[in-house]
Amino acid sequence: MTPDREAEYGAGLEAALDAGYAVLEHSGSSLDAVTTAVELLEGNPLFNAGRGAVLNFQGVAELDAAIMDGKDRRAGAVAGLRHVQSPIQLARKVMDNSPHVMLVGAGAEEFALTQGMRFVPNEYFLTDARRAQLQRKRERESDSESGHAGRAGQVLHTEANDLSAFGTVGAVARDLEGNLAAATSTGGTTGKRWGRVGDSPIIGAGTYADNASCAVSSTGHGEYFIRSVVAHDICARVAYGKLTLAEAADEVINRKLRSMGGDGGVIAVDSRGNLVLEFNSESMFRGARSSDGRREIAIYR
Ligand code: ASP
Repeated sequence: MTPDREAEYGAGLEAALDAGYAVLEHSGSSLDAVTTAVELLEGNPLFNAGRGAVLNFQGVAELDAAIMDGKDRRAGAVAGLRHVQSPIQLARKVMDNSPHVMLVGAGAEEFALTQGMRFVPNEYFLTDARRAQLQRKRERESDSESGHAGRAGQVLHTEANDLSAFGTVGAVARDLEGNLAAATSTGGTTGKRWGRVGDSPIIGAGTYADNASCAVSSTGHGEYFIRSVVAHDICARVAYGKLTLAEAADEVINRKLRSMGGDGGVIAVDSRGNLVLEFNSESMFRGARSSDGRREIAIYR
């Protein structure tokens, strides 16, 4: 990445971090804070969510998102959206205004209509950088099909290691009342097929919040995060195993997930406000801010 590009990522992270923090500073809820931060990142074409999301095999953006309230473990999730401008806002509506937790595809968009959500053509989400990324992925796949069929798994792994592949956005927060919340939004993985849904909108895998333990939002190779139920497992180790949040995240991300071959990381906050940013990949775009004066933005280790 060029220094200029790094600075752009940093500015995007900073804007979202500060906007979310401003909500908390004005006694707003953790739910509003994570919604605000994630919605801003969805609008930033650099990240893999909303505008600038990665493309599926057909070159279409298909978006997933989830939100969870740690106070009462209410949750809302959406998957396979093609036209709703802010997937995280729709996930919030699912949580607040529907009797369900997860809505997908055309049905989710039908619900969005009833909620007066803003619709956009799919082209709104597409960027040249993502088109080029899809093209590279297709070329790698056809290379591996002609002669290296046995290496298909390897190709997918390389893709997951591609820095630009992990741009899923997420936020976790603890507010002045001690309530936790988590939100995640993504375009999934480049070249995904057949209505593939990743971990981000799966409650317990990519997104989880419970005041009794912690709030977690994940990014990484979603199939592994689903199989490891990463977000809930971290919270469960805190709740039942009496591990600190840092120990729990370390065990799940650096041992359990890594031993399966899964790359990625999490951001997490516990009921005492401890912040953890843990990843086993080379890098993870991340930021943290707290009332004790901590304020950081980072990309690499
Ligand atoms: N976890 C996301 C998914 O698999 C992708 C990512 O974090 O970049 O859908």
